Amino acid sequence: MANDLFAPGYKSAPYWWEAVPRPSLPAAVPPARADVVIVGSGYTGLSAALPVARAGRSTVVLDAEDAGWGCSTRNGGQVSTSIKPGFDDLAPLHGEERAFAMVKEGQNALAFLDAHIRTDAIACDWERVGRFTGAHNTTQYEALGRKIAHQRKGLEVEAHLVPRAEQRSEIGTDAYFGGIVYPAHGSLDPAKYHQGMLDRALAAGAAVITRCPVQAIERDGTGFTVATPKGSIAARDVIVATNGYTSPVTPDLRRRVIPIGSYIIATEPLDPALTARLMPKARVNSDTRRIVVYYRLSPDRRRVLFGGRVALMETDPRVTAPRLHAEMTAIFPELATARITHSWAGFVAYTFDTMPHLGKWRDGVYYAMGYCGSGVSLATYFGMRIGQQVLGLQEGRTALDGLEFPTRPFYSGMPWFLAPTLVWYRLRDRVNF
Ligand SMILES: Cc1cc2nc3c(=O)[nH]c(=O)nc-3n(C[C@H](O)[C@H](O)[C@H](O)COP(=O)(O)OP(=O)(O)OC[C@H]3O[C@@H](n4cnc5c(N)ncnc54)[C@H](O)[C@@H]3O)c2cc1C
Repeated sequence: MANDLFAPGYKSAPYWWEAVPRPSLPAAVPPARADVVIVGSGYTGLSAALPVARAGRSTVVLDAEDAGWGCSTRNGGQVSTSIKPGFDDLAPLHGEERAFAMVKEGQNALAFLDAHIRTDAIACDWERVGRFTGAHNTTQYEALGRKIAHQRKGLEVEAHLVPRAEQRSEIGTDAYFGGIVYPAHGSLDPAKYHQGMLDRALAAGAAVITRCPVQAIERDGTGFTVATPKGSIAARDVIVATNGYTSPVTPDLRRRVIPIGSYIIATEPLDPALTARLMPKARVNSDTRRIVVYYRLSPDRRRVLFGGRVALMETDPRVTAPRLHAEMTAIFPELATARITHSWAGFVAYTFDTMPHLGKWRDGVYYAMGYCGSGVSLATYFGMRIGQQVLGLQEGRTALDGLEFPTRPFYSGMPWFLAPTLVWYRLRDRVNF
């Protein structure tokens, strides 16, 4: 490994944790009872906690690690409308009306996130910078053109094509064959956003108890017993908000989410003239390849934060850093000598139908998860909705309610089938079929 890729003081930890270190909450013992216990203290868990605690229910959020230790303080901070399948994919399966409502939920999620940040006054560098998605060949550029020309009435999103000849006004590379801009997408600092939500949840009266793994959730009369090493809680309702970290504690849910590693590096501070040349509008960026890459500037516009699926289950960020650096310099050769100060990883949760899922499981436990790598807005939104469902509120209903949460025979949570899929996708990206 080329050690000179790593800057002095390099850390295998999220860049975001420099400004917002993991909060050390006072060590606490779980109460004997609570109205609602929430497992997981990421965006889903905290967003669920807010309406529940604000409605006066005693609310306990438990996390096996520090608060926000999962994806919610590790992500790229890119925010979009996020529901992966389009109307044309969903309509044959669910009918036109429901498909419409399902796609609309992605748009609702973005609008809710925007409103939530304003209403709750969360300082998190949230900016509607827009997204540029580069086409990795001309076929994909044409496909992007068809996509915006044939938008379903009522589901239109603002977008415009950028031909290759004008591409440098968007991005300092010739690696793409043109692209598309979505002006409504945005960026935020994920750890600041999480910290803001944590502060609001605590202010609303929720107890957040960290380093307290839930070991078992058992039905007990009309409620549940939630067992932890620090003691058990008798809870009327339980919400599981563990996404890519869903464990054998909830085996039925674990069989339905596919944990996939996502990886990011941060460069050392760069010459502002260089970052302005590479991303003149400071947009969030991705491209049309199946093997995802996503990149942006840091909020101070000094660093490039470059992420991608360069491995599946690798847990050593020193191993994935050179691979990300190679992907980055394939797009931006000018970054060949830019050294890495931070490299990190987290596990997102895919689902077999690429849809998020929320609701009440057969045993009565509530859940919201499966954001397929785009959870900043979705986890915030569906977390809030599942909290409202626990309260029995009409507005908690979503177009995804009752959607079958599929699994596959013999799948128990270890995605053995991903390695061949990755090879297949790499091949398809290269030869374009
Ligand atoms: C590297 C990376 C980049 C990403 N980039 C983006 C992006 O740019 N845009 C975007 O929209 N999304 C992105 N995502 C995805 C997004 O971050 C997630 O979808 C979102 O944060 C999920 O939030 P969550 O609260 O559901 O789960 P998490 O934040 O992962 O929280 C789950 C929590 O559950 C806890 N837990 C698990 N089991 C137990 C247990 N038994 N007891 C107690 N606690 C438990 C874990 O410790 C963890 O803290 C990215 C993810 C990663 C990893």
